[in-house]
Amino acid sequence: MKNFISVFIFLFVISSKAFGQSDAVNDINNIIDDHFESLEVLYKHFHANPELSLQEENTSHRLAEELRHLGFSVTEQVGGYGIAGVYENGDGPVILVRSDMDALPMREETGVPFASSATAVTIDGSETYVMHACGHDMHMTTMVGTAKVLVQLRDQWSGTLVFIGQPAEELFLGARAMIKDGLFERFPQPDYMLALHVDSAMPSGQVGFSSGYAYANVDMGEIVVKGRGGHGAYPNYTVDPVVMASRIVLDLHTMISREISATDPANISIGSIRGGSSANIIPNEVRMEIALNVHNENTRERLIRRIEEKLKAAGIAEGLSEDEWPQLILNDETRVASVYNDPEMGERVRHTFQRVLGPENVYEPLPFMYGEDFGEYNHAMPDIPGILFGVGSIPPEDIKAAEAGLKEIPTTHSPLYLPDLEPTLRTGILTMSSAIIDLMNGN
Ligand SMILES: [Zn+2]
Ligand SMILES: [Zn+2]
Repeated sequence: MKNFISVFIFLFVISSKAFGQSDAVNDINNIIDDHFESLEVLYKHFHANPELSLQEENTSHRLAEELRHLGFSVTEQVGGYGIAGVYENGDGPVILVRSDMDALPMREETGVPFASSATAVTIDGSETYVMHACGHDMHMTTMVGTAKVLVQLRDQWSGTLVFIGQPAEELFLGARAMIKDGLFERFPQPDYMLALHVDSAMPSGQVGFSSGYAYANVDMGEIVVKGRGGHGAYPNYTVDPVVMASRIVLDLHTMISREISATDPANISIGSIRGGSSANIIPNEVRMEIALNVHNENTRERLIRRIEEKLKAAGIAEGLSEDEWPQLILNDETRVASVYNDPEMGERVRHTFQRVLGPENVYEPLPFMYGEDFGEYNHAMPDIPGILFGVGSIPPEDIKAAEAGLKEIPTTHSPLYLPDLEPTLRTGILTMSSAIIDLMNGN
């Protein structure tokens, strides 16, 4: 009898626990239901009115108004058109959530009724069409939906939210501009940082991320190869920078395969070589544009040091004086740091995602080799754990058709890219708000 009772109590505890958790999911889903129509309108508004990087004036103002309306105290003009909205709800952790806001200089071809026909003038003065082809409209709408959920469920958590709208993600400038303008000093300093990005390779209804290094550090710059020009018929009187540059290209690519472990992601691209004017003139100089994509900071430093050594060696081999040696000039302004998804926080967040979506809907992608400037927040505040996760945005049947070779799926940055609106938005809000509530409650 005693055993029977304890089994009964055990079952009761288990089922009430499971019940309580699915109750929380139901609460969130009900709030999303209540607001879905207005969120859809907001998404279509953002989509139809995109603004280029560094020009997000109306977008940021609208996002600020939405958050203010929910009781956030919002500061505008943080690092350009950045905004920071703070919502205090008692003692507890501070959680920063970032949405980017900028769109791309391209013409939309989706043909939907709310497609963008907006135009703008770029920094170099040319007119261009503008499109939200990277889903930042979805990120903002998810942020507003998440804010609605958390404000309505404020008796289920306590702590402080810092929701930021970040400009100029596409140029890797916005995060640094906000940090430089005092993001971490003027507003409550976070214990955790979160962001999401639509994923055009995964079905809607799913989310995922890789733990550890998730997006690469990207450095871009130039290699200047100086020689001594002359007549092409008398190369013996010259130092030919075209030949030097050719060797350097092969040398640098060989470094990746021979000096860096194959399990340590690193990549070099030399995307442009310019030099010379005519077939029989050996030029004085060749310039090459180089991009480095590396995950690990130590590997990055080593790679840069080794490139410099190779360039020096090339100069010495040609008998050039030190001031003539080939030079690597990296542009600090366009550098973006790796996104590092904190493994311990990642385990907690993954657990939340599995609970609210089912384990089969939480994927683990390979780390990406391109950059995302969410990494700048990690870089500025290495002790604050953060997670940037992906939200599947393609109808599952399209993914299946693509796998069978029957369909091509437009990726982000394609003029045809359009997220699967309803499930993407719902999944984004459900996962983001659940992750925040769990982190606030120490789960
Ligand atoms: Zn993008
Ligand atoms: Zn993006």
